[in-house]
Amino acid sequence: MSDIYIDPYWQALTEWFSGIPLLGQILIIAGAVGILILIVIGVYYLIKGVAYLIYYLFKGIYYLLKAIAKGIYKLFEALYYGITGKEKPRKPERVVSVEENPIIREKTPEIITQVEPQGISFCSECGSKISDSMATQLNAKGQVFCIHCGLSIEAINIHS
Ligand SMILES: [Zn+2]
Repeated sequence: MSDIYIDPYWQALTEWFSGIPLLGQILIIAGAVGILILIVIGVYYLIKGVAYLIYYLFKGIYYLLKAIAKGIYKLFEALYYGITGKEKPRKPERVVSVEENPIIREKTPEIITQVEPQGISFCSECGSKISDSMATQLNAKGQVFCIHCGLSIEAINIHS
């Protein structure tokens, strides 16, 4: 039973604690729990704050190093072109290619359905113009009726 004897201060505390009324005990426990929670929250925000701090610190260092590296690069680039006297190559501008017609459209001669009406262009009777369809028919059949006067136009005996 030597385990029970721990610390005289602890023992005094427990004796004091058991001596106070129940309501007081509850209040003390609640207060202790509240303080504990506050401590946990505080530690949480502390860690969070430190983490943010470290994060932004590293981020800042990163951008700083990046800027320095870029500056050094530009410096050396300027030195290089300054010493060698070379022209700094411009960034290749986007070549606006003249749109060359890849398909050279060979103008395939349209198949002219319009048949040469053997010099006949007008009806010998009424003088109206012989239409393309009439000429086509004339060439195909050797004969066509004038749509205006009804004259039978034959390919042979028509005066132009
Ligand atoms: Zn006619």
